[in-house]
Amino acid sequence: MPTEHPTLQDWLRRAAQRLSEAGSDSPHLDAQILLGHALDRPRSYLYAHGDDTLEPAQRAQADALLARRLEGRPVAHLLGRREFWSQELEVSPDTLIPRPETEITLELALEKIPSDADWALLDLGTGSGALALMLARERPGCRVTATDNSAAALAVARRNCKHLGVSNLELLEGDWFAPLAGRRFRLIVSNPPYVAEADPHLQAGDVRFEPRGALAAGPAGLDDLRRLIAAAPDHLEPGGWLVLEHGFDQAEAVDILLKEKEFYDIECRADLAGRPRATAARHAGG
Ligand code: GLN
Repeated sequence: MPTEHPTLQDWLRRAAQRLSEAGSDSPHLDAQILLGHALDRPRSYLYAHGDDTLEPAQRAQADALLARRLEGRPVAHLLGRREFWSQELEVSPDTLIPRPETEITLELALEKIPSDADWALLDLGTGSGALALMLARERPGCRVTATDNSAAALAVARRNCKHLGVSNLELLEGDWFAPLAGRRFRLIVSNPPYVAEADPHLQAGDVRFEPRGALAAGPAGLDDLRRLIAAAPDHLEPGGWLVLEHGFDQAEAVDILLKEKEFYDIECRADLAGRPRATAARHAGG
Protein backbone atom coordinates (compact mmCIF):
# COMPACT_ATOMS: atom_id res chain seq x y z
CA MET A 1 0.00 0.00 0.00
CA PRO A 2 1.42 3.44 -0.94
CA THR A 3 1.55 4.95 2.53
CA GLU A 4 2.84 8.35 1.33
CA HIS A 5 -0.15 9.16 -0.84
CA PRO A 6 -2.99 6.80 0.00
CA THR A 7 -6.18 6.83 -1.99
CA LEU A 8 -9.52 6.93 -0.21
CA GLN A 9 -9.77 3.20 -0.86
CA ASP A 10 -6.33 2.57 0.69
CA TRP A 11 -7.21 4.55 3.79
CA LEU A 12 -10.54 2.76 4.20
CA ARG A 13 -8.98 -0.69 3.86
CA ARG A 14 -6.25 0.05 6.38
CA ALA A 15 -8.60 1.75 8.85
CA ALA A 16 -11.13 -1.10 8.69
CA GLN A 17 -8.35 -3.59 9.35
CA ARG A 18 -7.15 -1.69 12.43
CA LEU A 19 -10.70 -1.23 13.72
CA SER A 20 -11.35 -4.90 13.23
CA GLU A 21 -8.19 -5.80 15.16
CA ALA A 22 -9.33 -3.46 17.93
CA GLY A 23 -12.59 -5.42 18.18
CA SER A 24 -15.06 -3.12 16.40
CA ASP A 25 -18.36 -4.78 15.44
CA SER A 26 -18.65 -2.71 12.28
CA PRO A 27 -15.11 -1.86 11.09
CA HIS A 28 -15.98 -1.06 7.46
CA LEU A 29 -18.96 1.10 8.30
CA ASP A 30 -17.00 2.94 11.02
CA ALA A 31 -14.11 3.60 8.62
CA GLN A 32 -16.49 4.99 6.00
CA ILE A 33 -18.30 7.21 8.48
CA LEU A 34 -15.03 8.62 9.83
CA LEU A 35 -13.54 9.32 6.41
CA GLY A 36 -16.83 10.81 5.21
CA HIS A 37 -16.78 13.10 8.24
CA ALA A 38 -13.15 14.14 7.63
CA LEU A 39 -13.97 14.95 3.99
CA ASP A 40 -17.33 16.48 4.86
CA ARG A 41 -18.92 14.22 2.24
CA PRO A 42 -21.66 11.60 2.37
CA ARG A 43 -20.58 7.97 2.38
CA SER A 44 -21.83 7.54 -1.21
CA TYR A 45 -19.08 9.96 -2.30
CA LEU A 46 -16.43 7.52 -1.08
CA TYR A 47 -17.57 4.76 -3.45
CA ALA A 48 -17.37 7.00 -6.51
CA HIS A 49 -14.01 8.53 -5.52
CA GLY A 50 -12.16 5.51 -4.13
CA ASP A 51 -9.18 6.11 -6.43
CA ASP A 52 -8.74 9.77 -5.48
CA THR A 53 -5.64 10.60 -3.44
CA LEU A 54 -6.25 11.89 0.08
CA GLU A 55 -5.00 15.44 0.67
CA PRO A 56 -2.50 15.53 3.57
CA ALA A 57 -4.75 17.73 5.72
CA GLN A 58 -7.75 15.47 5.13
CA ARG A 59 -5.64 12.45 5.87
CA ALA A 60 -4.43 13.97 9.14
CA GLN A 61 -8.01 14.65 10.15
CA ALA A 62 -9.17 11.16 9.22
CA ASP A 63 -6.20 9.65 11.09
CA ALA A 64 -7.03 11.71 14.19
CA LEU A 65 -10.66 10.49 14.12
CA LEU A 66 -9.48 6.92 13.65
CA ALA A 67 -7.09 7.18 16.62
CA ARG A 68 -9.94 8.36 18.86
CA ARG A 69 -12.22 5.60 17.61
CA LEU A 70 -9.46 3.06 18.32
CA GLU A 71 -9.44 4.30 21.94
CA GLY A 72 -13.05 3.16 22.02
CA ARG A 73 -14.78 6.52 21.73
CA PRO A 74 -18.28 6.18 20.25
CA VAL A 75 -18.68 7.23 16.62
CA ALA A 76 -21.54 9.50 17.73
CA HIS A 77 -19.10 11.43 19.96
CA LEU A 78 -16.56 11.81 17.16
CA LEU A 79 -19.25 13.18 14.87
CA GLY A 80 -21.06 15.04 17.65
CA ARG A 81 -24.38 13.72 16.38
CA ARG A 82 -26.64 10.71 16.11
CA GLU A 83 -29.80 10.06 14.17
CA PHE A 84 -32.96 9.50 16.19
CA TRP A 85 -36.46 9.16 14.74
CA SER A 86 -34.98 10.25 11.37
CA GLN A 87 -33.60 13.52 12.81
CA GLU A 88 -29.97 14.45 13.40
CA LEU A 89 -29.45 15.23 17.08
CA GLU A 90 -26.38 16.79 18.65
CA VAL A 91 -24.90 14.54 21.32
CA SER A 92 -21.89 14.95 23.60
CA PRO A 93 -20.18 12.98 26.38
CA ASP A 94 -22.66 14.77 28.71
CA THR A 95 -25.66 12.96 27.20
CA LEU A 96 -26.58 9.37 26.56
CA ILE A 97 -26.36 8.53 22.86
CA PRO A 98 -29.96 7.91 21.73
CA ARG A 99 -30.53 4.22 21.03
CA PRO A 100 -32.96 2.29 18.86
CA GLU A 101 -34.78 0.94 21.92
CA THR A 102 -35.73 4.50 22.83
CA GLU A 103 -37.60 4.71 19.51
CA ILE A 104 -39.73 1.84 20.86
CA THR A 105 -40.41 3.88 24.00
CA LEU A 106 -41.34 6.88 21.85
CA GLU A 107 -43.61 4.78 19.63
CA LEU A 108 -45.47 3.40 22.64
CA ALA A 109 -45.91 6.92 24.08
CA LEU A 110 -47.15 8.32 20.76
CA GLU A 111 -49.77 5.56 20.52
CA LYS A 112 -51.33 6.90 23.71
CA ILE A 113 -51.53 10.51 22.50
CA PRO A 114 -54.17 11.37 19.86
CA SER A 115 -52.60 13.31 16.98
CA ASP A 116 -54.70 16.42 17.69
CA ALA A 117 -54.17 16.27 21.50
CA ASP A 118 -53.44 19.43 23.49
CA TRP A 119 -52.02 17.55 26.46
CA ALA A 120 -49.31 18.51 28.93
CA LEU A 121 -46.49 15.98 28.43
CA LEU A 122 -43.37 15.39 30.52
CA ASP A 123 -40.01 13.75 29.73
CA LEU A 124 -37.88 12.98 32.79
CA GLY A 125 -34.09 12.85 32.36
CA THR A 126 -34.21 14.14 28.81
CA GLY A 127 -30.45 14.15 28.08
CA SER A 128 -30.00 15.26 24.46
CA GLY A 129 -33.76 15.90 24.39
CA ALA A 130 -34.47 12.96 22.08
CA LEU A 131 -37.83 11.87 23.52
CA ALA A 132 -39.09 15.35 24.42
CA LEU A 133 -38.19 16.84 21.04
CA MET A 134 -39.83 14.09 19.01
CA LEU A 135 -42.97 14.23 21.18
CA ALA A 136 -43.10 17.99 20.62
CA ARG A 137 -42.68 17.58 16.84
CA GLU A 138 -45.09 14.67 16.46
CA ARG A 139 -47.76 16.25 18.69
CA PRO A 140 -47.52 19.99 17.96
CA GLY A 141 -50.72 20.73 19.89
CA CYS A 142 -49.16 19.43 23.12
CA ARG A 143 -46.99 21.37 25.56
CA VAL A 144 -43.91 19.35 26.47
CA THR A 145 -41.84 19.81 29.61
CA ALA A 146 -38.51 18.05 30.09
CA THR A 147 -36.19 17.88 33.08
CA ASP A 148 -32.60 16.80 33.56
CA ASN A 149 -30.25 17.10 36.52
CA SER A 150 -27.31 17.89 34.24
CA ALA A 151 -26.93 21.50 33.09
CA ALA A 152 -24.46 20.32 30.44
CA ALA A 153 -27.01 17.86 29.01
CA LEU A 154 -29.69 20.57 29.00
CA ALA A 155 -27.40 22.83 26.99
CA VAL A 156 -27.23 20.11 24.33
CA ALA A 157 -31.02 19.65 24.48
CA ARG A 158 -31.51 23.41 24.12
CA ARG A 159 -29.35 23.50 20.99
CA ASN A 160 -31.25 20.54 19.52
CA CYS A 161 -34.50 22.33 20.29
CA LYS A 162 -33.36 25.46 18.48
CA HIS A 163 -31.92 23.51 15.55
CA LEU A 164 -35.18 21.59 15.05
CA GLY A 165 -37.23 24.76 15.42
CA VAL A 166 -39.30 23.29 18.26
CA SER A 167 -41.22 25.92 20.24
CA ASN A 168 -43.59 23.81 22.40
CA LEU A 169 -40.87 22.48 24.71
CA GLU A 170 -39.85 23.77 28.13
CA LEU A 171 -36.51 22.54 29.58
CA LEU A 172 -35.97 22.58 33.35
CA GLU A 173 -32.92 21.71 35.43
CA GLY A 174 -33.41 19.41 38.42
CA ASP A 175 -33.62 15.88 39.69
CA TRP A 176 -36.61 14.01 38.25
CA PHE A 177 -39.76 15.74 39.55
CA ALA A 178 -37.90 18.30 41.72
CA PRO A 179 -38.62 21.35 39.50
CA LEU A 180 -42.29 20.31 39.04
CA ALA A 181 -43.90 20.77 42.46
CA GLY A 182 -47.69 20.75 42.13
CA ARG A 183 -47.69 20.20 38.36
CA ARG A 184 -49.58 17.39 36.63
CA PHE A 185 -49.28 15.86 33.18
CA ARG A 186 -51.44 13.72 30.95
CA LEU A 187 -48.46 11.58 29.95
CA ILE A 188 -45.03 11.15 31.48
CA VAL A 189 -42.25 9.38 29.58
CA SER A 190 -38.75 8.50 30.72
CA ASN A 191 -35.66 6.62 29.66
CA PRO A 192 -34.06 6.56 33.11
CA PRO A 193 -30.82 4.81 34.07
CA TYR A 194 -31.65 1.10 34.45
CA VAL A 195 -28.40 -0.86 34.19
CA ALA A 196 -27.25 -2.81 37.26
CA GLU A 197 -24.16 -1.18 38.77
CA ALA A 198 -22.06 -4.33 38.51
CA ASP A 199 -23.16 -5.13 34.95
CA PRO A 200 -19.97 -5.83 32.93
CA HIS A 201 -21.68 -4.05 30.01
CA LEU A 202 -20.75 -0.74 31.73
CA GLN A 203 -17.04 -1.64 31.57
CA ALA A 204 -16.95 -2.59 27.90
CA GLY A 205 -16.98 -0.79 24.57
CA ASP A 206 -18.52 2.56 23.78
CA VAL A 207 -20.63 2.71 26.95
CA ARG A 208 -17.51 3.60 28.99
CA PHE A 209 -17.55 7.04 27.39
CA GLU A 210 -21.18 7.80 28.20
CA PRO A 211 -22.36 9.45 31.44
CA ARG A 212 -22.57 6.75 34.08
CA GLY A 213 -25.32 8.68 35.84
CA ALA A 214 -27.52 8.13 32.78
CA LEU A 215 -26.90 4.37 32.80
CA ALA A 216 -26.37 2.81 36.23
CA ALA A 217 -29.16 2.60 38.80
CA GLY A 218 -28.32 0.57 41.89
CA PRO A 219 -27.67 -3.12 42.40
CA ALA A 220 -30.49 -4.38 40.14
CA GLY A 221 -30.73 -1.30 37.93
CA LEU A 222 -34.20 -0.63 39.35
CA ASP A 223 -33.53 2.27 41.75
CA ASP A 224 -34.66 5.07 39.45
CA LEU A 225 -37.52 3.10 37.89
CA ARG A 226 -38.82 2.44 41.42
CA ARG A 227 -38.46 6.11 42.38
CA LEU A 228 -40.27 7.32 39.25
CA ILE A 229 -43.13 4.85 39.63
CA ALA A 230 -43.58 5.89 43.26
CA ALA A 231 -43.58 9.62 42.52
CA ALA A 232 -45.47 9.67 39.22
CA PRO A 233 -49.05 9.40 40.64
CA ASP A 234 -48.65 12.85 42.28
CA HIS A 235 -47.82 14.32 38.86
CA LEU A 236 -50.35 12.52 36.68
CA GLU A 237 -53.79 13.79 35.74
CA PRO A 238 -56.54 11.23 36.44
CA GLY A 239 -56.17 8.41 33.89
CA GLY A 240 -52.80 9.79 32.76
CA TRP A 241 -50.08 7.60 31.28
CA LEU A 242 -46.61 6.70 32.48
CA VAL A 243 -44.33 5.26 29.77
CA LEU A 244 -41.00 3.85 30.90
CA GLU A 245 -38.07 2.33 29.08
CA HIS A 246 -36.37 -0.53 30.93
CA GLY A 247 -33.96 -3.41 30.47
CA PHE A 248 -35.10 -6.47 28.52
CA ASP A 249 -35.04 -8.50 31.74
CA GLN A 250 -36.87 -5.95 33.90
CA ALA A 251 -40.42 -6.10 32.50
CA GLU A 252 -41.67 -8.33 35.29
CA ALA A 253 -40.12 -6.21 38.04
CA VAL A 254 -41.58 -3.05 36.48
CA ASP A 255 -44.99 -4.73 36.21
CA ILE A 256 -44.89 -5.57 39.94
CA LEU A 257 -43.78 -2.04 40.89
CA LEU A 258 -46.59 -0.54 38.80
CA LYS A 259 -49.25 -2.79 40.32
CA GLU A 260 -48.01 -1.98 43.84
CA LYS A 261 -48.75 1.69 43.09
CA GLU A 262 -52.17 0.89 41.58
CA PHE A 263 -51.34 1.56 37.95
CA TYR A 264 -53.68 -0.18 35.47
CA ASP A 265 -53.93 -0.91 31.72
CA ILE A 266 -50.31 -2.05 31.83
CA GLU A 267 -48.89 -2.69 28.37
CA CYS A 268 -45.40 -3.86 27.53
CA ARG A 269 -43.69 -3.34 24.16
CA ALA A 270 -40.96 -5.60 22.75
CA ASP A 271 -38.17 -4.89 20.26
CA LEU A 272 -37.78 -6.72 16.95
CA ALA A 273 -35.92 -9.51 18.75
CA GLY A 274 -38.98 -10.00 20.98
CA ARG A 275 -37.35 -8.56 24.10
CA PRO A 276 -39.59 -6.30 26.23
CA ARG A 277 -38.11 -2.78 26.30
CA ALA A 278 -40.83 -0.33 27.37
CA THR A 279 -43.98 -0.40 29.49
CA ALA A 280 -46.98 1.95 29.56
CA ALA A 281 -49.56 2.14 32.33
CA ARG A 282 -52.26 4.54 33.58
CA HIS A 283 -53.08 5.89 36.99
CA ALA A 284 -56.19 7.39 38.55
CA GLY A 285 -54.01 10.21 39.89
CA GLY A 286 -52.42 10.54 43.32
N1 GLN B 1 -29.96 0.53 26.79
C1 GLN B 1 -28.82 1.20 27.37
C2 GLN B 1 -27.63 0.30 27.42
O1 GLN B 1 -27.78 -0.87 27.61
C3 GLN B 1 -29.14 1.69 28.75
C4 GLN B 1 -29.92 2.92 28.70
C5 GLN B 1 -30.38 3.37 30.04
O2 GLN B 1 -29.90 2.96 31.09
N2 GLN B 1 -31.33 4.20 30.04
O3 GLN B 1 -26.52 0.76 27.23
